[in-house]
Amino acid sequence: MTIIAVDTPKSRIFHDLDFDRPGRQIGYLRVPQSRDGGAWSTIEIPIAVVNGAPGPAVLFTGGVHGDEYEGQIAVSRLARRLDPQSLRGRLILMPAVDLPAALAGRRMCPLDGRDFNRCLPGDPRGSFCQMLAHFIDTEILTRVGVSVDIHAAGNAMEAALSTCMHHTDDPDILKQTFTLAENFGAPYNVVFSGVDETSTLAAAAERRRVLAISSELGGYGRVSVDGLRIAERALLNVLKGMSMIDGTPDTSQLDGHPGTRHMEVRDHTGYVFAPSDGLFEPMDLAGAEVRAGQLAGHLHFIEEWAREPMPVEYRSDGLVWMAPGSGRVRKGDVVGVVMRPYSHS
Ligand SMILES: [Zn+2]
Repeated sequence: MTIIAVDTPKSRIFHDLDFDRPGRQIGYLRVPQSRDGGAWSTIEIPIAVVNGAPGPAVLFTGGVHGDEYEGQIAVSRLARRLDPQSLRGRLILMPAVDLPAALAGRRMCPLDGRDFNRCLPGDPRGSFCQMLAHFIDTEILTRVGVSVDIHAAGNAMEAALSTCMHHTDDPDILKQTFTLAENFGAPYNVVFSGVDETSTLAAAAERRRVLAISSELGGYGRVSVDGLRIAERALLNVLKGMSMIDGTPDTSQLDGHPGTRHMEVRDHTGYVFAPSDGLFEPMDLAGAEVRAGQLAGHLHFIEEWAREPMPVEYRSDGLVWMAPGSGRVRKGDVVGVVMRPYSHS
């Protein structure tokens, strides 16, 4: 019998970057994507590496979802503008992680129909998003100590401007992640526990002992002026907070509050689900204060227009973190998420 040795599959993604070279490199990860008329075609994923004096290593990402724009603008602008001479440490910047989705303005990748942020830790022999997820997990997250991923709420929702982090039972990691979120300086920081999200970039980072926060800085499929303002300030704030550039984080809020308010979504009662297909009429904007049992909106049945709209209620007290705006919804869709003040219990 012949035994064929099978190596651990390596990534098919290649690039010209030297992650240790001093100064700024702006380039691409090349993801093989054979197509009609292009046997050796690649999809070029933007990436920059900036190396300054010795110091910490940080990853900034945007465009993990293509219909979220603030991170794409803020991360790419910083990659062009940051002076390597002013930096202590290594910064890796990826402004449009799922570039095909970013070019299409869509959440799902048009090449394989997947949500990149549900593909970690990925597969080197898988689909486009799976290959890219595997590369980022094995080649990028292994080179940093901190990951900051800029999101917004996409076409379907709008978020109260916020960072998000996972709860952990490790008190040191929890404290450091809170500090990272406080330095970021969004109006809110939302702590998740008991909600299963193991295939996200943040979850993959945490598995590699990388401090990770994500963020929600807008939504409704447009560029949020205030979300972009927070995003650009936040990236510099994080670098200042880690002493990677000079200065002190500016975390002041428009309402005069000196910093970030810590909130939580502890379980599924924070989520409002559509009980039927229909046209959802929301009652509130993101940030509104609500109570359990309060009307969240009405589901309209335009095709049966004599039928009364169906009331949908919040299931938890708190502030609206995610407000819906997509119009048509399907049974089981989330049509609102409520956050409440963080408590240690
Ligand atoms: Zn997103």
